[in-house]
Amino acid sequence: MTDDQFRAETRAWLEANCPPSMREPVRSDKDATWGGRNPVYTHPDQKVWLDRMAARGWTVPDWPRQYGGGGLSAAETKILREEMARITARNPLNSFGISMLGPALLKYGTEEQKLEHLPRIARGEIRWCQGYSEPGAGSDLAGLQTSAEDKGDHFLVNGQKVWTSYADQADWIFCLVRTDKSVKQAGISFLLFDMASEGVSTRPILLISGSSPFCETFFDNVKVPKANLVGELNKGWDVAKFLLGHEREMISGFGLGGAGADPLVEAARNGVDPILRAQIALFEVRSKAFAAMSEKFIDELKAGRAHPAQPSMMKYYGTELNKARHELLMAAGGSDALEWESERSSAGAAPRA
Ligand SMILES: Cc1cc2nc3c(=O)[nH]c(=O)nc-3n(C[C@H](O)[C@H](O)[C@H](O)COP(=O)(O)OP(=O)(O)OC[C@H]3O[C@@H](n4cnc5c(N)ncnc54)[C@H](O)[C@@H]3O)c2cc1C
Repeated sequence: MTDDQFRAETRAWLEANCPPSMREPVRSDKDATWGGRNPVYTHPDQKVWLDRMAARGWTVPDWPRQYGGGGLSAAETKILREEMARITARNPLNSFGISMLGPALLKYGTEEQKLEHLPRIARGEIRWCQGYSEPGAGSDLAGLQTSAEDKGDHFLVNGQKVWTSYADQADWIFCLVRTDKSVKQAGISFLLFDMASEGVSTRPILLISGSSPFCETFFDNVKVPKANLVGELNKGWDVAKFLLGHEREMISGFGLGGAGADPLVEAARNGVDPILRAQIALFEVRSKAFAAMSEKFIDELKAGRAHPAQPSMMKYYGTELNKARHELLMAAGGSDALEWESERSSAGAAPRA
């Protein structure tokens, strides 16, 4: 099939299968589709859209078919992304499994691990969280102390993680553990385990915004089968860094905003003052330039030609754009946007964000 034929077929399929409600912007975190064992849908079309996309492997279009992917080429994946953007289709599935763990498993996982985990990630059946940071190991991540003791057929995990996004809603965790105390980076291993395992508990951290996206996560004598080690023992730092490159790429995408009509453009059209309009226009130009740069970087990443610093640049600039977007949204909302609980401010959506 030529790329033009693929585009025509994709366009027709999306037109027929993407429900109109899934072409609307995601208004809040709860509005997004996260999947998992106990999925929460604010609209029934979220499930319809997820299932239709997953059935084609299009939640992970460029993963191989045997792992639940679409088996698309880089060019086809890009066409799919463009055609989804054309109709402002929502991402069918938000998933740390897709954006972080999946690429790491594809590179470092055994065949058994790939077959066990990747298809369930692709279908949105298992929700993952990331157990990296600890109270004494954030920027200095390699200082982590959570230990995994070799007990013959299993590891015994003890310790604490912090800032674990959505740990209280996650089904499984990918976790950095210390398997050798005598060396720093070279004593870390990468483990996968079920959050329902005995000895795992979570405590949400309440933020000033009123929401609790983060948790403290505790491990008290958690038994983890040896087969759940990804990569070699004490070589987890390599897996961790590779995964972080993908996390940075994912975070940089926040700079591009979500699907659907851009509320900033709407604000500018609705006649805010000329200075703010000019600032919004400048922001939109930067945002378009960033999108073009990201496109180029992602092409290079997929082709294995990217400089390792590129995802860091993308994350940094994407984060700056995201901050600017929120500041402009606050400015465009005027004093109404400061209201924390009113209907006029959509329950304080802008200041809380
Ligand atoms: C939105 C969000 C989601 C997150 N989700 C997760 C998650 O799911 N899982 C997870 O494991 N972690 C998660 N994190 C945690 C994140 O990775 C850590 O916040 C990060 O590693 C920084 O660690 P810290 O917060 O402990 O800050 P610290 O390392 O304590 O740093 C505090 C301050 O000190 C500065 N600093 C630190 N070291 C030095 C130094 N040597 N010299 C000079 N200045 C220094 C830092 O720049 C910073 O300003 C998340 C964070 C955010 C913001």
